[in-house]
Amino acid sequence: MRYFVRLSFTLRSSASKIFFLFMALIKPIRFISLDKSQFYTTLHNRVDSYFKENNLSKHANAGVVVKTIILLSAYFLPLVFMMWFQPAFGWTLALWAFMGVAMAGVGMSVMHDANHGAYSANPRINELMGYSLILLGGSINNWKWQHNTLHHTFTNIAHYDDDIADKPGLRLSPHTEVKSAHRTQWWHAILIYSVVTLYWATAKDFMQFARYRRNGVNKNTDAQNRVFLAQIIAIKVFYFFIFVGLPILAGIPVLQVIAGFLLMHFICGIILTIIFQLAHTVEETTFPLPSAQGVIENEWAIHQMNTTVNFSRHNRLLSWYVGGLNYQVEHHLFPKNLPRALPAPCEHCRKHRSRIQCAISGTQIFWPCTPLAFRHTSAFWETAGYG
Ligand SMILES: [Zn+2]
Repeated sequence: MRYFVRLSFTLRSSASKIFFLFMALIKPIRFISLDKSQFYTTLHNRVDSYFKENNLSKHANAGVVVKTIILLSAYFLPLVFMMWFQPAFGWTLALWAFMGVAMAGVGMSVMHDANHGAYSANPRINELMGYSLILLGGSINNWKWQHNTLHHTFTNIAHYDDDIADKPGLRLSPHTEVKSAHRTQWWHAILIYSVVTLYWATAKDFMQFARYRRNGVNKNTDAQNRVFLAQIIAIKVFYFFIFVGLPILAGIPVLQVIAGFLLMHFICGIILTIIFQLAHTVEETTFPLPSAQGVIENEWAIHQMNTTVNFSRHNRLLSWYVGGLNYQVEHHLFPKNLPRALPAPCEHCRKHRSRIQCAISGTQIFWPCTPLAFRHTSAFWETAGYG
């Protein structure tokens, strides 16, 4: 199995240079299904009927609201506690580590759904809860462009989906250049992931601001962008004041605050990126390229099923913590629906996939437990690292 995946990576790598030239033109991509299948229309209708017949909301229920309170409290109360009581350094570090776990939980279970418009039927509540991204140090507009626009539309398409863009020393797509540093990414990937949210809180929004203006993803006027840039700066100042400035002002030694802040980000970065990896960059997903005319010859929904997998679906604690993002196929097919573990309606998916990735059917698909899923991801890093 590994050999064939590696061979396929090699073949696709040679096509990548041609594709890279094509990409300099930044053409829009269209999804065209040659068999004119009614797959998504039928599936959409069935899922809608499921919600109606069972009198279920597509948005946050009381349980999700309670979870929101728990996660936001778990993120902020340790900070208040350490400033108020100033325990020994070891205890302070443990509190920062706990905040890192809560920070990732807020990102996945609150911010993500709110900025998708899934948290509530009321756009104002989504907007309000979406501001939780500021508490993580990020810009809402940039996140929506990267995640809602690029990642959810062009999932696993190299040079379009920012989530699989190469990072220094890390290659996630079979269509980008292989470097010697990638040979050890099966183990050093975790080190790179540990600084991802730190990069996000500091430089990433500024880099994205420049890149999205250049490639046309950001369609704001110059005047709007001046305001947007000022907002990004304000978010960073606010964020660092709360999480670095306040503890220092409260009397915690500077080096202890820096060590704790870094630990929080290391933990949060690893959690967020691993959850993403398990859904998209594994050996079972595909990385389609558009034709020279910018066409993906597939229906968009089928493309989502080919590029996304579920994991650890029966782990209820994990499902709670990650906001159902272990049901990624359902999330990609219905990003505005918050409940994801849907039974019955996706019998329909079975007919369209011999290798079923859609878990709505109620069948356990790939990985029954999280450790097995991790091993699978590491195998993908190794394969991708060798090209
Ligand atoms: Zn999403």
